[in-house]
Amino acid sequence: MNRKKRGAGKALYAAMAVIAVLIVLAAGVLFGLRRGTIRRESLQDSEAASSTKEMLSAETSVSYAEGVVSLPPSEEKTEGAASDAGTGSALSAASSAVTEPALIDENEAERTEQMLAEQSREARKEDADKLKGVIRAAVPHVGTYAAESGNTGAQAHGGDAKEKKIVMIDPGHQDHAMTDTEPVGPGSGEMKQKLTSGTDGTASGKHEYEVNLEVGLKLRDLLLKRGYEVLMTRETNDISLSNMERALMANSAGADIFLRLHCNSSTDPSQRGALCYKAGPNNPFVGEALIKSGEQLAALLLESQVAATGQNALGLLDGDDMTGINWAAMPAVIVEMGYMSNPDEDMFLAGETGQLLIAGGLANGVDAFFAGGDGGKAS
Ligand SMILES: [Zn+2]
Repeated sequence: MNRKKRGAGKALYAAMAVIAVLIVLAAGVLFGLRRGTIRRESLQDSEAASSTKEMLSAETSVSYAEGVVSLPPSEEKTEGAASDAGTGSALSAASSAVTEPALIDENEAERTEQMLAEQSREARKEDADKLKGVIRAAVPHVGTYAAESGNTGAQAHGGDAKEKKIVMIDPGHQDHAMTDTEPVGPGSGEMKQKLTSGTDGTASGKHEYEVNLEVGLKLRDLLLKRGYEVLMTRETNDISLSNMERALMANSAGADIFLRLHCNSSTDPSQRGALCYKAGPNNPFVGEALIKSGEQLAALLLESQVAATGQNALGLLDGDDMTGINWAAMPAVIVEMGYMSNPDEDMFLAGETGQLLIAGGLANGVDAFFAGGDGGKAS
């Protein structure tokens, strides 16, 4: 080897050594970056998870502190929309923090999602348990029935679709009156206005037909969850249905009970409380068995409503001039849920909390009615 070659060999060794050092440094930097990224993501995950948990538990405590009979978020359609949206956005915020970064550990993301799903399931189960507690506390006899049978309506009526009881809900009125007339009962020469416009809230400014529909939809959702088949005469305010037509809808659906939801009004603003109309003992259009079962249904609905809401129970009235009761071929009741002419009760009727309590109470009344026998199906 001459000097020239030796010089070239040294240069080559030096270059290789520099390259090796560079490779080691680059690897070290890359490894460090990766570890740093993963650590940051893990931190974000746990923060997102704990903030989700906080939101869930905060919601739970708020709704029960207010005494709201709220529903497990999984199934709700209307009443829980607000709380559902809150939970949903917390979860999606958490999951975007997990999935968006490029260097996220796949297993870690999966574990986090499982953890979030688990927390959400637990929160829902807690909700359901608390709801049962609220209902049992509010309505002692339903609590007893529920404890004896191991559950409420859903199981009492069995999983078989044929055994499901059919509830027809009629939210009273609509966005316009119908001034034509119709017979007040089958075969009657007495004619009555097809539909009146209903009342308005003195404090809330809401129309009665709006409140009736809002409560009706909440009651529908509760009863569906308890295993009933539920039908509505209307799900919108923009419709034209007379009182007779509404009863005929219940008849053709083969409904087991017909619940008509209304709000009351009085010239006396201090007047407040709930009451029910049913067929009276001498109603010429309704058979004896139906009169009896209608009265049972009215009594249970009123009792359960006021137990849940704390309103005054004003009693049961004979509604023999009520077209919708006279045409019905099943126990039919008008629930006057409260007075919109009383500012306090009006605000209760118009608000989310009041409506949920009323719907929860009425659902308990339906459970109690069907728990008491065959429900007095039309004879
Ligand atoms: Zn009304």
